[in-house]
Amino acid sequence: MTNTYHPGVDMKLFEYEAKAFLQKSGIPVPKSKVCGTEDEAASAYTEFGGNAVLKAQVLAGGRGKAGGIKFPRSEDEARSQAKDILAMKIKGEAVEKVLVEEKQNIKREHYLGIVTDPDAGCPLLMFCAEGGMDIEELSSKNPDAVKKTLIDPRYGLFGYQVQELLKGSDIPKDAQTGIVSIARALYQTYWDKDGELIEINPLVETAEGKVVAADAKFNIDNSALYRQPDMPKRPVRTVEERAEKLGLSYISLDGNIGIISNGAGLTMSAMDYLNQEGAKPANFLDLGGQATQSSGIKNGIGLVLEKPDVTALLIYIFAGGPRCDVIATGIVEAINEMEKEHSLRVPIVVTLHGRFAEEGMKVLSTCKSPRLYQEPMVEDAVRKVIELGGKAQ
Ligand code: GDP
Ligand code: MN
Repeated sequence: MTNTYHPGVDMKLFEYEAKAFLQKSGIPVPKSKVCGTEDEAASAYTEFGGNAVLKAQVLAGGRGKAGGIKFPRSEDEARSQAKDILAMKIKGEAVEKVLVEEKQNIKREHYLGIVTDPDAGCPLLMFCAEGGMDIEELSSKNPDAVKKTLIDPRYGLFGYQVQELLKGSDIPKDAQTGIVSIARALYQTYWDKDGELIEINPLVETAEGKVVAADAKFNIDNSALYRQPDMPKRPVRTVEERAEKLGLSYISLDGNIGIISNGAGLTMSAMDYLNQEGAKPANFLDLGGQATQSSGIKNGIGLVLEKPDVTALLIYIFAGGPRCDVIATGIVEAINEMEKEHSLRVPIVVTLHGRFAEEGMKVLSTCKSPRLYQEPMVEDAVRKVIELGGKAQ
C-alpha cells in the first residue's frame, strides 16, 4: 500500500528517491545505502566506519518524532535497531526500507523549500534559518522567521533573490554561498521534474563548514507523470478499491460537487437536495461504520478530493451512533494536513447534526483554513456548496 500511486494526487517520493534527484543536480547529500533487511543495514553501518544514522523510509511526515530515526553505536545495535525500524508502522504506513546514511556533524539546521503557491499560481521559495521542525510549526511559532519570495517561471530563480532571503542572518559567508547555489539547483530540479513541493529540512551546516541536505521531500504533479520517464513506477489502485479496503463505499458520478455522508439514506437525500437546486454530484462517499473514527472521515475526504472534477465538497452528517465532534476532529486534521502541503484546492462545506453536534461545530471553528465553511442548516449548506463550486454543464 505504501508503494501505491494514487491517480489524482501528487506522487510523493521517498527520501532516498528525492535525494537521488538532488544529488544529480549537484546538491551535496550524505553518502547512503538503501537497505531492505537488518543484515544489509548492519554491514552498511560498518562500511561507513560505524559513523551512520538509520532512517525509516516512509511517505508520511514526522518520522523522527515517531521513532523512525536511530543512532546506533555498534554493528549489533545497528542490526537490532534496523530490525525494529523495519517492523514499524508510521502513521499506518509499514516501513519497507531503511536508509543507512553517513552521520553528519551538525552545527546548525536550516529549512529550504519550494511549493507551488495555489493563490499566486507560481513557485514560492521559503527559507528559515531555524530548521529541523516542520514548516507549519516554524511559521506558527515565529512567522517572521520564515522568509519567502515568489519565483517567476519565465526567468527562474536568481541568486540575488536567495541572497535577499539570507540578508540579516548570521550565517557565515561561505555557507551563504552554498545555500544560494543549492536553492538554485533545487528550483531547477523542482521545475524540470514537474514538482509541486520540494523541501530540504534540515539543510545542515556541518562542523566542517559544509552545507548538506540531511533530509528531503519531493512531491510530483501527478498529471505530468507521463512526461517524466525517470520517476519511479508505482502500482496503481483505483479509488473504489482503496475505499473498499478502508471500509468506505465510494461511487463516481458525472457532476462537480463531492458528497460525504453517513448511511445510504442520508447520502441519497444529500443528492436529492443538490438535484433540487439544479446541481450534480461528482461522486459520493458513505462513511458507513467508519463514522465512529476520525480516520474514517480523513480517508474519505482524501478519496473524494482525488477526482479532478470536484469543485467543492459537501459533508452532511447525521450522527445517531457516531459523534459529530469525533468526525469534526477528523475533518480539521484532514484540512490542516492538506493546507500544509498546499494541496487543498476546493472549498469544503460541513453541516453537522445529531449527537455532539454543537461540540463538533466548536471543533470546526478552531480550523484556520479559509476553505472550510460550516452551516447549521442542511439547506443552507447545499446552497453554499453550489455557490462556491458552481453547477456543472
Ligand atoms: P524527519 O523527522 O522525518 O523530518 O527526519 P530528519 O531526517 O529531518 O531528521 C530529524 C532530525 O534528526 C534532524 O533535524 C536532526 O536533528 C536529526 N538528524 C538526522 N540526521 C542526522 C545526522 O546525520 N546527524 C545528527 N547529528 N543528527 C541527525
Ligand atoms: Mn526532516
